[in-house]
Amino acid sequence: MPHVITQSCCSDASCVYACPVNCIHPTPDEPDFHTAQMLYVDPVECVDCGACVTACPVDAIKPHTKLTADEDVFATLNADFYATPRRPRPILAPVVPPLEVRPGELRVAIVGSGPAAMYAAEEVLTIPGALVLIYERLTTPYGLARFGVAPDHQRTRGVTHQFDHVTANPRLQMRLGVEVGSEITHEDLLNEHHAVIYAVGASTDRRLDIDGIDLPGVSSATEFVAWYNGHPDHADRRFDLSHRRAVVIGNGNVALDVARLLTIDPDRLADTDIAPHALKALRGSLIEEVVVAGRRGIEQSAFTVPELVGLCSTPGVDVVVRNEDLRALPDSDPRAAILRAAPRGAGNRRVVLEYLLSPTAILGDCAAEGVEFVHNELIAAPDGSTRVKSTGLQRVIEAGLVLTSIGYRGRPVPGLPFDDATATVPHQGGRVPGVRGAFVTGWIKRGPTGFIGTNKSCAQETVRSLVADYNAGLLA
Ligand code: NAP
Repeated sequence: MPHVITQSCCSDASCVYACPVNCIHPTPDEPDFHTAQMLYVDPVECVDCGACVTACPVDAIKPHTKLTADEDVFATLNADFYATPRRPRPILAPVVPPLEVRPGELRVAIVGSGPAAMYAAEEVLTIPGALVLIYERLTTPYGLARFGVAPDHQRTRGVTHQFDHVTANPRLQMRLGVEVGSEITHEDLLNEHHAVIYAVGASTDRRLDIDGIDLPGVSSATEFVAWYNGHPDHADRRFDLSHRRAVVIGNGNVALDVARLLTIDPDRLADTDIAPHALKALRGSLIEEVVVAGRRGIEQSAFTVPELVGLCSTPGVDVVVRNEDLRALPDSDPRAAILRAAPRGAGNRRVVLEYLLSPTAILGDCAAEGVEFVHNELIAAPDGSTRVKSTGLQRVIEAGLVLTSIGYRGRPVPGLPFDDATATVPHQGGRVPGVRGAFVTGWIKRGPTGFIGTNKSCAQETVRSLVADYNAGLLA
């Protein structure tokens, strides 16, 4: 098998279009693209040319012979995607046609400078002569690519180098430290631009409404992530790391990130981009065990395979799952083999994956001392999804640090409509109906799902809508 996609896959699909034999799937136009946990190289069709390696912004693709022992599992994962049943020989992925724009100088303002904004800027700049002006509230660009990706995921953070190339384009300007909505309005922006693309992300977290949630010692995982990444809004936060155990509520990729950061040997973080204040605090941490609690069963774990591989290959960290949970995971699920082979070593710190637990209260008088959960059983909902029903049985897990990791949430954007249920701006192909010149991309458009590179196809859709409106003379 010549080339293999590994853990840091960002799904931006640059490799798909670089591949001369169309052996990387799913492609953005295939139905499973938005649900796939990563992209995969077909080992039979790959001609070993290495074009995908050059195109990948996060160094995720390697020749088979260069895989480390921890990465060997990805050779199987890539091959399995095509094996059962054999994926029909794909037709060549359609190359996205170049944007055709009527004569004139298209000017676009973009609000935000995270991955969604930068992919939108890259797309607009493919139009000859088009100008982009990015407004960013912070004094440092690139949003979650800088303040969200874990510091030990250096290859994923490398996507910022690609953004540097976009920023270096002389037709792009960036105004840092300017807040659109307060200092400058949508109408102000339209005085100088044909359109405004809002790429403001999901800047807060979903709140868990249970007793004790405001006790000291309880925080959101997103705040913890922002703190260890040196986000200026969170740099002065303090997290109590003086207890033996922490509990993380929710089991998505963010939950695994914070569990890993709380248990990894801090020396391994020393040469990363971790904020110095966080490294110092983690060096003094007494936490030995992190319990990651999911409300549904092991099969419904929200984390993805690449992130699980990352956790299970963290030196000095055991990943512990109850046997009865492991038995509930079918062999066909790639996570089964990974969890069965997970490390167990004397003296290691541990991440314990617990299931079927819904939090009902945070216990403690002056600060968090534990989490009260109720046990669940799985039920099949009429729509085919798997939900839970309380059994009424209670369980308390003692912990001095509790991090809720139940997803991000978008905030309303001044002047734009807002759907409170999904915490997104309603749109049609990225176009905000009823607001002249307004477009959205990224998490404020589709909700907090997907990977960094998912924003590329999302931005392409939005910019195509924008260009269609411009060509139709709808943008003054
Ligand atoms: P997420 O994947 O949506 O996971 C949210 C978790 O919270 C789920 O386990 C969910 O359980 C649980 N939850 C929701 N409401 C709850 C409640 N009321 N009580 C208890 N549990 C509750 O969110 P995320 O981890 O914040 O990740 C956001 C996005 O960023 C994802 O697309 C993720 O893949 C991406 N991300 C990627 C990486 C990476 O690729 N390295 C790293 C970080 C984040 P249910 O499943 O039962 O709803």
